[in-house]
Amino acid sequence: MQLKNFLCFLKDNGISFSENEMMKNHTTFKIGGAADVFVRPKTKDELKETIKSAKENRVPVLLLGNGSNLLVSDKGIEGAVIDMSCLGGIEVKENEIICGAGESLRKLCIAARDSGLTGLEFAYGIPGTVGGALFMNAGAYGGEMADVTVSAVCLDKDLKEIMLTKEQMELSYRSSVFKKNGFIILSVKFSLSYGEKEKISAEMDEIFKRRVDKQPLDFPSAGSTFKRPEGYFAGTLIDNAGLKGKSVGGAAVSEKHAGFIINRDNATASDVLSLIDIVKKEIKKKNGVSLFEEVIFVGRR
Ligand SMILES: Cc1cc2nc3c(=O)[nH]c(=O)nc-3n(C[C@H](O)[C@H](O)[C@H](O)COP(=O)(O)OP(=O)(O)OC[C@H]3O[C@@H](n4cnc5c(N)ncnc54)[C@H](O)[C@@H]3O)c2cc1C
Repeated sequence: MQLKNFLCFLKDNGISFSENEMMKNHTTFKIGGAADVFVRPKTKDELKETIKSAKENRVPVLLLGNGSNLLVSDKGIEGAVIDMSCLGGIEVKENEIICGAGESLRKLCIAARDSGLTGLEFAYGIPGTVGGALFMNAGAYGGEMADVTVSAVCLDKDLKEIMLTKEQMELSYRSSVFKKNGFIILSVKFSLSYGEKEKISAEMDEIFKRRVDKQPLDFPSAGSTFKRPEGYFAGTLIDNAGLKGKSVGGAAVSEKHAGFIINRDNATASDVLSLIDIVKKEIKKKNGVSLFEEVIFVGRR
């Protein structure tokens, strides 16, 4: 990796960046060591140029949405973390919305509601960006991104802009083709149905209230730690195994919702990883069920 050349490129082109940026300031878990370089492109062109230079200089890249599904290593991240928030814009055309990948799901849901469009209520309260949500095929309360997505404009491996249809995205439970192909999502087209603003608004409020009632939102976390194992709920298995409140260092299984590992008190990524390991072993022993992480671990091992 030729990090120095990459840094020179950023400087020469006036692209905003900082070195040794602590990732705990950029994740909802409030965990994570330093990224070698944290880049904040201001436009799509700057983003493209940044990624092109990173490739040329063999600098590994991590795209960052809102950091709400990430557990970042205490040893930090080798290479560049790229903040995607420059990819904004929400355009409503009849019953379709085209949304920049860096926009928050919250803003998208509000735009849909204000336009009297129904279908995105499930996503209200998921604290991610549109790009991160499509990458994860995020879902809740019976809905998921796959239900409303039509297509996405992406940068492929050669940094060519291409359009993928929903079918090409291979959206499945908390997964998508983007986990394999490394494409960069630039914008997403959604198709919604016409509805009544008041009803949409009431449904969003109800879903938000359920989150506040059930989830440990007063502690940093990355949401559900584990995927739902077939035929079970991870939280129920963990609760029944008596693991609520179980802790390692500053990380603990939430007392409010056993499906969440929370950062109770200055947890490290290694605390969280050890606790994940304990929970997985205990559930395998007690129930014969294998749990798999929904949270994505990134950074130096
Ligand atoms: C309190 C809480 C509640 C949550 N509830 C839910 C829930 O109900 N349902 C649910 O599914 N999830 C939930 N989550 C998890 C998380 O919010 C979702 O997975 C969200 O979609 C992640 O989006 P993000 O922008 O934060 O992505 P990040 O965490 O920043 O990134 C996730 C992955 O997406 C990639 N990525 C991001 N942007 C792009 C892009 N433009 N192009 C290509 N790749 C990209 C990243 O590189 C990374 O690999 C919750 C999290 C928290 C903290």
